[in-house]
Amino acid sequence: MKFANRIEQLPPYLFVEISRKIARKRAEGADVVTFAIGDPDIPTPSHILERLHQASNDPPNHRYPETEGLPELRRAIADWYEGRFGVTLDPDREVLPLIGAKEGIGHAALCFIDPGDIALVPDPGYPVYSVGTLFAGGQCHWMPLLEENGWLPDLDAIPPEVARRARALWLNYPNNPTGAVADEGFFQKVVEFARRYGVPVLHDAPYTEVAYDGYRPGSFLQTPGAKEVGMEFHSLSKSYNMTGWRIGMAVGNAQMVNALMRVKSNLDSGIPQAIQYAAIEALRGPQECIEEHNRIYQRRRDRVVATLRGIGLEVAVPRASLYVWAKLPQGWKSGEFATLLLEEKSIVVTPGAGYGRHGEGYIRLSLTIADDQMERGLARLASWHIPDPT
Ligand SMILES: *Cc1c(COP(=O)(O)O)cnc(C)c1O
Repeated sequence: MKFANRIEQLPPYLFVEISRKIARKRAEGADVVTFAIGDPDIPTPSHILERLHQASNDPPNHRYPETEGLPELRRAIADWYEGRFGVTLDPDREVLPLIGAKEGIGHAALCFIDPGDIALVPDPGYPVYSVGTLFAGGQCHWMPLLEENGWLPDLDAIPPEVARRARALWLNYPNNPTGAVADEGFFQKVVEFARRYGVPVLHDAPYTEVAYDGYRPGSFLQTPGAKEVGMEFHSLSKSYNMTGWRIGMAVGNAQMVNALMRVKSNLDSGIPQAIQYAAIEALRGPQECIEEHNRIYQRRRDRVVATLRGIGLEVAVPRASLYVWAKLPQGWKSGEFATLLLEEKSIVVTPGAGYGRHGEGYIRLSLTIADDQMERGLARLASWHIPDPT
């Protein structure tokens, strides 16, 4: 059978390959401990689940939802942005609920990219920015994220002729996979760049609530002028352990939000309404769960960082996100390192190269693993002598 080029060109989804390797190892009887996927192990808080149960019994919620979401949900999102970031949003023009941020990110490419157009994409980065670009027929201009720049892209290094042709600038802070954060100064440069070249900014921000040591990450939309040039993706997945319920949002520039709404209204039929009511409860209800979860992740973070340093890896302590990004000893390829670690210690980590060429030489460990499993994994890791690279 002949498939479209966009399917033939598709790189294998990173986690599908990893899952296959894990299954093979488990079939051999190994106790595999995985630090690979960023999917919270802690359940959705019970007050949110209760609202979901209740809403699921209400027959109007059994019918097709509207693409633009319940007005109450759009208002709850706008109020949450106001309360959390001091960002004022018009719930009818500047807010669009999504079936998870991933869905909105993938579809957003269709709003901005025509065949042959350029998207500015971070490397390493969450794969959906580049795959969405590919699906829309566009090309990626990779922006290297380097340790010496604090894992921020160097916008001055983008050739002006590329910037002039760019139709989207993708960013993500707090960052997956590096755990890096961006400050207001960087976002100001982004707004200047976007104005100079007329490039729409798409900022993916699902980790603003997952932060440590009292640090509170900002929203891109807090930067003066941001709403004129950009849109932000957020999600309830990581803030409230709701990855399985699939609900997120796009907020910001009204024209950009409207374009995404038009694409989506032709492709999906919105978010199941009971889940929208659960999301309203999450955003408007008690927020202590966020701090509770962060305390758990922070303890895990400290254990993982200490263990990795103990076996000789270079690791910065992340201030936000669910990830520890570790530098491998000179000469190691991340894929070979991850394979050896699985073979010798039945531990799964994500090879940095899976996030792009500039992720090579690094591995990512996720903190979304139950404490007892994590401790089993870390004990094995601590006893490992990293061999010389072959
Ligand atoms: C987890 C994640 C998402 C996806 O969030 P959903 O709302 O669950 O689709 C988007 N971007 C990044 C960087 C993520 O890590």
